[in-house]
Amino acid sequence: MMHEKDSIFDQLTAREHERLCFHQDPETGLKAIVAIHSTTLGNALGGTRRWYYESEADAVYDVLRLSKGMTYKAAVSGLPMGGAKSVIMMPHRDTPRTEAEAKAMGRFVNTFNGAYIAAEDVGVNIEYVDWMASETSHVMGGETVSCGGDPSPWTALGVFHGMRACLTHSGQGDDFSGKTIAIQGVGSVGKSLCKLLKDAGASLIVADINKKNLDFAVETFGCVAVHDDDILKTECDILAPCALGGVIDGNMVKHLRCPIVCGAANNILDDPEEDAVALKIAGIVYGTDFVVNAGGLIHLAGMHLGMSTSELQAKNDEIFNTTLQLLELSGSASSTYAAAVEIAKQRIAEGQETEVHAG
Ligand code: NAD
Repeated sequence: MMHEKDSIFDQLTAREHERLCFHQDPETGLKAIVAIHSTTLGNALGGTRRWYYESEADAVYDVLRLSKGMTYKAAVSGLPMGGAKSVIMMPHRDTPRTEAEAKAMGRFVNTFNGAYIAAEDVGVNIEYVDWMASETSHVMGGETVSCGGDPSPWTALGVFHGMRACLTHSGQGDDFSGKTIAIQGVGSVGKSLCKLLKDAGASLIVADINKKNLDFAVETFGCVAVHDDDILKTECDILAPCALGGVIDGNMVKHLRCPIVCGAANNILDDPEEDAVALKIAGIVYGTDFVVNAGGLIHLAGMHLGMSTSELQAKNDEIFNTTLQLLELSGSASSTYAAAVEIAKQRIAEGQETEVHAG
């Protein structure tokens, strides 16, 4: 198993990355990292995360893990795109976003000539995306300078389709009435998911460390709030982690009181290979994160590739079939996660073969 203390090249080798690029801008103090995991299937679109990291090693670990996930997400969704991600290391937890910093980041993104296309992630909003876009055309997800807008409603819709597939696979049809869904994190994706599920007749239990977001979900969708320490262990029909990653590990699996885990967070499982097997052994159906949370990527990458509105809608709807097929395949694989990785790797290998033949 790889450790954060391994050398940078050991980490790149272990995760099969193409590039890891560091940049600093003395004028604004920007410290940023872009990780391009793979461009085998095409240029790579991935969000920019603006976060306070305790150490450089933590930032490198995060950007490597997230960028690899983007490669799998694009491949399993059938998009001709690679996988990449960037992180901005905030000097302090509360350092405000500035236009100058975003522009410096935009200039860094521009040096990749389109091999890396930046977008929104945790800590970055639409305004910030448009500030970056004022320095480079290789940005998606803004509303004025770039296009695409907030991808969160599309991510939520994809997760909703993923949940329908999990229910169908469990022999429960795809009817949410009478079902209880527990959602950890009611931020951008979580609140859109609340609306879809409420409209579909589900009862909702939610937790969030941000009181404003929690109150909004309770008041708008009639959700029942529980303490954030309790949400993962809440009895429910579907548990939807929609906050940060790494929330379910081998120990937590023993405490889960749900037959299905399906949520938006990237890297829900602390150690995906091992924890997905533990879920399978515990009889818990897992809608693999990078499969069900691909709606936002599909929306922005699809727009970048010139898809029409109806094509974008159809591609998002496909998340239902993809999730269902993977759940069926997982019967013979060690886990749903393993089945999803296998399909992603097959598509990347086919892309490599096409490149060789074209060359
Ligand atoms: P967000 O920052 O808008 O919302 C996250 C919410 O989780 C916030 O309200 C935050 O207060 C809450 N939270 C954080 N830690 C918590 C904890 N311990 N317990 C309870 N609540 C907690 O982010 P988002 O855009 O909604 O994304 C949510 C997750 O989905 C992230 O992991 C993100 O990487 C992933 N994701 C998002 C998109 C997208 O389109 N936004 C796409 C794919 C994946």
